[in-house]
Order: sequence, then structure tokens, then C-alpha cells
Amino acid sequence: MADVSAERDGLIDGMPRDERGHWQPEGEKLPSPVFDWPPNPRKLAKYLFNYLFPWNLIYMLIAVLTVTFLQPEMSRMTRFSPDWILYLFARNQIMLIAIVSAWHLWLWGRKSQGFQFKYTAEWMAKGKKKFLGKNQLFDNIFWSCVSGGTIWTAYEVVTLWAFANEYIPYLDPREHPVYFVLLLCAIQLWGQFHFYWTHRLLHWPPLYRAAHFLHHRNINPGPWSGLSMHPLEHVIFFSGVLIHWIVPSHPIHAIMNGQLTAFSPAQAHAGFESIVVNGKSKLRGASYFHQLHHRYFECNYGGLDIPFDVWFGTSHNGSAEAHEKMRAKRFASHKVRTSAA
Ligand SMILES: [Zn+2]
Ligand SMILES: [Zn+2]
Repeated sequence: MADVSAERDGLIDGMPRDERGHWQPEGEKLPSPVFDWPPNPRKLAKYLFNYLFPWNLIYMLIAVLTVTFLQPEMSRMTRFSPDWILYLFARNQIMLIAIVSAWHLWLWGRKSQGFQFKYTAEWMAKGKKKFLGKNQLFDNIFWSCVSGGTIWTAYEVVTLWAFANEYIPYLDPREHPVYFVLLLCAIQLWGQFHFYWTHRLLHWPPLYRAAHFLHHRNINPGPWSGLSMHPLEHVIFFSGVLIHWIVPSHPIHAIMNGQLTAFSPAQAHAGFESIVVNGKSKLRGASYFHQLHHRYFECNYGGLDIPFDVWFGTSHNGSAEAHEKMRAKRFASHKVRTSAA
């Protein structure tokens, strides 16, 4: 394994690094062409392929299998009762631990690809007081499971109970198969819309100090950092599931919505741009866009599927120019605040 401190400036596992040990992927990560005018059919087709394959389809499959094989009967869920609620809690915790651990063990535990495609040149922090038990990994697992897994399950329990009692609009896939599939495809998009706005809210200073600071202690995030949040942030973060209380949908949609919110942060925070299989970059890993949010805080609040950050001037692509722009903006807003005070 490469000696990180000695090789900060040079190559680590064949990847060039800056003086802080950061690696920047080549090529600009472009926002979704869905909003381009005039439309470009080739770009659009490529984008839609990447939108679905492979991760979105994997999450859809997990949701379908969960509802088909691991879901209590609807008739049991008309009343709140510990048997099915505890079952859902255990099911969700086991799935969360299995999926996030797979990311962690492959990339950070076994260090299967060393520093190849790794954004930072550090591993999980140890001995830092800001983390529970002075251990970043333990701290991240604690907040993800104890708070994240519980609040996610709570939203799921109430939503399934509402479906079972027909309090919320139910969609029959046999009557509306096209709408069923389109809605399944749109869940990731809804998740990004909801994430951008709630994330902006969480950067409002009082909410940041009360809750979001906890997630941002992870300057060098790993898979378990994704769902490592304050309980108040989890309540906001998982609230996207409430869309199923208004929009006609099937429990598969609601389960996928919750699972995507619970599982996809492990990927988004994996710390590696790609997963290497047989020496080649094979699978898309963490989002560089969000990695930069953890590095600089005041940029890249959303994703690139709906490019709010590009529209509102808060996007950062990792370049020196983008950094200068962000710093100038920060300086200007600081001046406005101090002169108003
Ligand atoms: Zn994050
Ligand atoms: Zn943030």
C-alpha cells in the first residue's frame, strides 16, 4: 500500500494528487441535458441510459423483491402492532447493514483497489474527539442505524398502515401499468428535488447548528457517512416518502422511495469515483459533485439530474476558477452581513 504522507504531491496508485492529497476526476461532470434547449437526442438517450443503469434498476429490483417476499400481509398492517413493526425494523436494519457494509468492506475495509479513483488520500479518522468514541466509522454506524434506520422505518410503518386502511390513494398496477412504471422511474428524480430543497433548508444557520453540522463533520466521507445524520435531519431527509400520501401510488413505490433514501447515500459518499473490477474502472461510484460539498460546504447542494446548483450559481466543478467564484461570493455575502449589523 502507498505511503500517503510521503507521496502527497505525486502519484498514489497511479493517480495524480494535489498538495492536500485530493484527486480530481478528468472531464467535466455535466448537468442533465433534459433541460437543454434545443434538445439533443443523442445526449438525452445517453443520459437516460445512465439514469437507469445500473443503480436505479438495482434499487427498483430490491424494492420489488422486498414487497414480494419480505412484506407482511396488508390485512395485518391495518392496526399498529409490535409484531409486524418489529419485523419491518429488523428487516430494514439487516438490509441497511448488509448494503452499506458491502460498500465499506470492499473499498475501505479490504482496500480492494487501494487509492485508485479515491477522492482523498485518507482513510476513516481515528482519535478525533468530534466523533463518538473518537472513531469515525463507529460514530457513522451509530447515527446511521440507531437514528437513520429507526426514522426510516417509522415513515414506512405509518405509510404502510395508511395504505392498508385505504387512507391514501392506491394505484393498481394491473389497471395502470404504464403509470406504475413511469412513477417507479421518477422516484430518483423526486428524491433529488426533495433533497435539494431540504438540504438548502438544513444550511439555514439555526438548522445547521442544531442538526446538519453532524453530517458535515465528515470532511472525508465514506459509505457509512452517507446516512450519518442528526435525528432531526433524518426526520427531514426521509420526509420525501410523504409524497405517497398525496400522489396515487403502490406500496412498491413507497418502499423504493424509502430504500433509495436509505441506501443510496452509501454510494454517494463512497469516496471513490469508480469501482475497479479486474483492473478496469467498471461501476459508477460516489458523486464527485457531493464530495465537493463535503470539502467546501457552500456549493453543490443538490445533484446533477435537476441542476438547481447550476441555475442558482452554487455549482462547483472542482476547478480553481469555480473555487475563486465561490470564495468571492462568500466574501461578498460576509461584507453584506457585517455592514448590515
Ligand atoms: Zn453528504
Ligand atoms: Zn450540507
